[in-house]
Amino acid sequence: MGKGRRSTVTPIRPHGGTLVNRLVRGVLREAAIERARELPRIQLHPQSVSDLELIAVGGFSPLTGFMGRADYESVVETMRLANGLVWSLPITLAVRKDAAVNIGEGDEIALYEGDCILGLMTVEEKFGYDKVREAGEVFRTTDEAHPGVARLYAQGDLLLGGPITLLNWPGDQSFSEFRHSPAQTRRMFAQRGWRRVVGFQTRSPIHRAHEYIQKAALEIVDGLFLHPLVGETRPGDIPAEVRMKSYQAILRDYYPPERVILGVFPAAMRYAGPREAIFHALCRKNYGCTHFIVGRDHAGIGKYYGTYDAQLIFDEFRPEELGITPLFFEHAFFCRKCGAVVTAKTCPHDREDHTYLSGTQVRDMLARGQPLPPEFTRPEVAQVLIEGYRAAQEETSA
Ligand SMILES: [Zn+2]
Repeated sequence: MGKGRRSTVTPIRPHGGTLVNRLVRGVLREAAIERARELPRIQLHPQSVSDLELIAVGGFSPLTGFMGRADYESVVETMRLANGLVWSLPITLAVRKDAAVNIGEGDEIALYEGDCILGLMTVEEKFGYDKVREAGEVFRTTDEAHPGVARLYAQGDLLLGGPITLLNWPGDQSFSEFRHSPAQTRRMFAQRGWRRVVGFQTRSPIHRAHEYIQKAALEIVDGLFLHPLVGETRPGDIPAEVRMKSYQAILRDYYPPERVILGVFPAAMRYAGPREAIFHALCRKNYGCTHFIVGRDHAGIGKYYGTYDAQLIFDEFRPEELGITPLFFEHAFFCRKCGAVVTAKTCPHDREDHTYLSGTQVRDMLARGQPLPPEFTRPEVAQVLIEGYRAAQEETSA
């Protein structure tokens, strides 16, 4: 049965039905680069660099470029593209008015990261937008202390919409061996015969609580796609290099290699909480996942979102509209009486029986080089985090 079964694995359909590919190669690419010399240039900010790459490789399917006005307005207001397809975050290219003076609708422009041309865009629309309204709808707050809102307010006042092509990869191609495109992960899942694949989004190290949730999910599917976000995050978050080392350490020692694939998700964090949970799920569907883990406070920050908002928002859509099944989890922790990692759903004991450390406590212990309790973090992971902390401190004191 083994071989026959593998050949009959049909990957999940990408969002909207077609996996987008906007990469230009070979002589077409050379001609485009030549033509770009004469085109108006736009400098991309880090978030737009990430967005460009993800549009090009199909991570944002069905988007083929930055959003025009109809899609933008519809997404902000209804979490759907103008054609009705679910899409929860605006993917826009914001530019300053002075940078766009000589750019008209119908023009082709060159998209740059520093001195390097990344891609071309045909500007179909150039339009103004209401930042405060976008903040209120997308982030559910207009508070400038929210990092996503702050970034929105700081960006340009005009949006350019239209299809893009990618000519060169962005400068940051770190973790290249894990930078699998959606087309690649789909092949990898199929080669392993995985029909059901659960995606796990993270921007944190894997403590025992996360390991428990991942393994609980893995019990009901065929494979786990561990997909940490490595695009722009805010300064307080643990650097991606340290996180990647910690993932490799825990995967090597505690996960069956034939059941797990580690990839990196080059997206920028928006901290849009519930809307970003939907967005993260749809992107992982494009990578070939059939299931997606949504914890409490997914993609949240501070006290802007209710604990369960990122789970409840999934009820606003019919399952077939999303096409990927969310798996909702509670916070997990170690219970000394149970002698296991548990959640409030599975443990009857009191809080004093639980090993719980806040993010601040963890950072303080790491800063002192103090080992984290093994029931909280695997020693191999704790070691990587302590070394990462030391390196960061030496860098700041140097
Ligand atoms: Zn217990």
